[in-house]
Amino acid sequence: MSVFEDGAFRHHESVHFFSDEPTGMQAIIAIHSTDLGPALGGCRMVNYANSAEALTDVLRLSRGMSLKNSLAGLELGGGKSVLMVPAAWGNDPKYAGPERASLFQAFGHAVDSLGGRYIAAEDMNISVEDAANMGKSTRHVVGLETGMGDPSPLTADGVFFGMRACIARAFGTTDFTGLTIAVQGLGKVGWRLCEQLHKAGAKLIVADIVDETLQRAKQQFGAVIADKDGIVTTKCDVFAPCARGGVINAQTLGHLQTKVIAGSANNQLSKDELGAELQAKGILYAPDFVINAGGVINIAPEVNGVTDHKWVAGKVAALEQTVGEIIDRSIAENRSTNQVADEIASARILNARHQAAQAA
Ligand code: NAD
Repeated sequence: MSVFEDGAFRHHESVHFFSDEPTGMQAIIAIHSTDLGPALGGCRMVNYANSAEALTDVLRLSRGMSLKNSLAGLELGGGKSVLMVPAAWGNDPKYAGPERASLFQAFGHAVDSLGGRYIAAEDMNISVEDAANMGKSTRHVVGLETGMGDPSPLTADGVFFGMRACIARAFGTTDFTGLTIAVQGLGKVGWRLCEQLHKAGAKLIVADIVDETLQRAKQQFGAVIADKDGIVTTKCDVFAPCARGGVINAQTLGHLQTKVIAGSANNQLSKDELGAELQAKGILYAPDFVINAGGVINIAPEVNGVTDHKWVAGKVAALEQTVGEIIDRSIAENRSTNQVADEIASARILNARHQAAQAA
């Protein structure tokens, strides 16, 4: 396994490997940048094939957090952490045995050893209870029940606002009535997004791996059910990936039948260059790290021990303007939306670095 040679390394400040034999905890914490502040980013537990796969995932996600936090105007850097699923848990990241609590306490010690350079929160397969267990060993964890709470509703709200900026550019209207939106993944974010889109008059096509959820969507929203993979290339006005990353890739690109891609999943493009290819095909792509920032905006005040729902709501609503400005600039400069967004975010980070160097 290589680290510096990994294509996703891209100038990380540091990458930390942790192992705790008694609990079976094995983790990687990647800190991409602390130029704007401590590196805030969730912790996920996924059934990775091996640690090389986990490393690539954490590196891509960590840099994404730097860009996300920068573009959202937060005084926070970017980092992320991944946990391997212990073999003793039967490869189940949602394993609920009594050993789970001690693994997360051990992970809390790992986070604590970084002295606040990295701040953890929940991500895939990590519950509020897991975060509370981390919190027994470190104060550098947010997304606690006693803080700003579940970030998912705010992520969904941000996607809804950002999607509105997209349809304004693609269809010349901010009215969803009659538009067909395909939503992949009806989890915490996808379901709430469907509720909002249904209320706003959109027609829904949905996919998930849980049949019961699909039946509920059919009943509640009159949604049409699609195949979990086929939905990526289904004919629609907007495709919203809200399940997993990498769904826009060499295999799906040529078969896309949508005008807009706007969803919550991280790393929707299997590689950045696909942004330009989408643009060449006339497909409007809302960069994932811009449109899905609602969740991190929600937990940001907690870093300073504050709860401020009004500030969060205002900042999440502003994502409509941010997404719109990025699209307009992308059109004016004939560059992909993700390239434009990457540059704006990176410039703010570099500026902070230069200012700190000058002050030193
Ligand atoms: P979740 O785990 O609650 O929901 C994911 C849903 O996708 C589940 O219903 C699951 O059954 C379904 N799913 C899994 N594999 C699938 C497949 N192959 N095809 C179709 N459906 C599938 O997760 P979430 O919190 O709703 O997050 C959704 C996505 O958005 C994730 O990629 C997450 O990383 C990203 N995201 C979430 C937040 C947040 O605040 N929750 C913030 C930023 C980004």
